[in-house]
Amino acid sequence: MPFKRWITYRSLSSQSYDIVISGGGMVGTAVAAALGNSPLLKNKKLLLLEAAPRKEYAKSSTFSNRVSALSPASRDFLKGIGAWKLIEDSGRFKAVNKMYVWDACSGSDIQFTQTEESDDHLAYLVENDLSVHSLSTLLSQQADRVEVAYGTTVTQYGTDNITSPSQPMKISLSSGQTISARLVIGADGFNSLARRSMGIKTTSWNYDQVGVVATLKLDKQEDGNVTAWQRFLPTGPIAVLPLSDDTSSLVWSTTPSHAKHLLALSPEMFVDELNHALIDNSKMDGMVSIVEDQYKKLLEKFGSFATSHEDQRTQPLPPTVLDIDKESRAKFPYGMMHADKYVAPRLALVGDACHRVHPLAGQGVNLGFGDAECLVRTIVNAVSLGADIGSSEHLVEYETERQRHVVATTAGIDGLYRLYSNNWTPVVLARSLGLMTVNALTPLKRLFMQHAQT
Ligand SMILES: Cc1cc2nc3c(=O)[nH]c(=O)nc-3n(C[C@H](O)[C@H](O)[C@H](O)COP(=O)(O)OP(=O)(O)OC[C@H]3O[C@@H](n4cnc5c(N)ncnc54)[C@H](O)[C@@H]3O)c2cc1C
Repeated sequence: MPFKRWITYRSLSSQSYDIVISGGGMVGTAVAAALGNSPLLKNKKLLLLEAAPRKEYAKSSTFSNRVSALSPASRDFLKGIGAWKLIEDSGRFKAVNKMYVWDACSGSDIQFTQTEESDDHLAYLVENDLSVHSLSTLLSQQADRVEVAYGTTVTQYGTDNITSPSQPMKISLSSGQTISARLVIGADGFNSLARRSMGIKTTSWNYDQVGVVATLKLDKQEDGNVTAWQRFLPTGPIAVLPLSDDTSSLVWSTTPSHAKHLLALSPEMFVDELNHALIDNSKMDGMVSIVEDQYKKLLEKFGSFATSHEDQRTQPLPPTVLDIDKESRAKFPYGMMHADKYVAPRLALVGDACHRVHPLAGQGVNLGFGDAECLVRTIVNAVSLGADIGSSEHLVEYETERQRHVVATTAGIDGLYRLYSNNWTPVVLARSLGLMTVNALTPLKRLFMQHAQT
């Protein structure tokens, strides 16, 4: 019986746990699977709670409209706990070898190509449901070590009693039942109850953009559809991300009113508007083009700075979209949020519960998997030293390591959003020359790439 421990609250095996993970999205399920994988934690009582009912993943001829570009670092983490093999075995992912990013208001562009000497692809497109399914399959194999309860919502965290360091955290469930944990891991998304209950402050704002997603059918791609495309328009970026040889996933970030319009269009008109947006040059700034030509000549003089010959060729044409999958269009609001603290007595936050970013750089869940890896390493280290599993003394190491990376990434993504949501000539010019410079300077370009891949 593979899923015998996927149970409801009625049959929770205990009232007290060492670690309770609240939230079984991609990040929470990854934390649970990584903890269950650790031999040092084999005597600990672990519980994963997920508010939604368990979702069966069925491989179908159509792709889900919720997909993520996973970085090589995320792949390595998933590989380390055994989940990547299940994703690979499913044959349902696409490795990206090239990324092409270009600006609708100028002639500047940048491309990243997988180097011949590297085994790493630039990214891997995987359906979110498949990631969760692979991690849940691991949990079913660890059923004697990790209990999983679906359809179980945490309604309240008892924070009064944890002023004393030895007291566990009380957790009230939708069933009316109360359990306790020496450590709660809040993986409950950007509206995290765990974070709010502990009074952790955040810096946050909404972007005046929403994401329209859809699954696209493309014309035949000579390269086997291994390129990720992203075009920056003043209203927001359009990303076309490969899923199979002739299918890609769309994330069209745009204004709320335009998103409403896009969702109301017939499939044929939607496809026309998308193809137009990918090639339309009417937003091009003439003044910027003149300066760009001069700057290009200057860069060419310093040929030793230029990247590979291939990178200097003319701009490649994006794929032509032929159709969209029925019912695959949907929209998602965007916002930025960063928690001042990722830990509190008996609590650690991971994933969107402690940071939310604009999807333009495809970093949200990659940051979350980075949290998962770091937190599990920190907990295992604390246990190996005989320390209290939920003591802030150890958890703060996790917070310091992750905030260093996440703050830089969040600031970079927000900066990119602001830089490209503007079509004022001086700003367009500055970003265009900046992008041309980065594209021409191989070490700088590698630096950008390395940060995005960790
Ligand atoms: C359009 C779009 C495209 C994106 N593309 C990418 C990409 O290419 N690459 C990338 O890295 N990121 C991407 N992201 C971001 C990524 O989707 C998120 O960062 C990721 O889903 C966050 O995962 P999570 O597990 O932290 O949170 P969530 O997915 O929000 O999961 C939280 C879980 O907690 C459960 N829960 C909530 N409250 C409770 C409670 N009280 N009790 C019990 N359970 C609870 C919820 O039911 C949910 O299952 C994209 C986002 C959007 C909107």
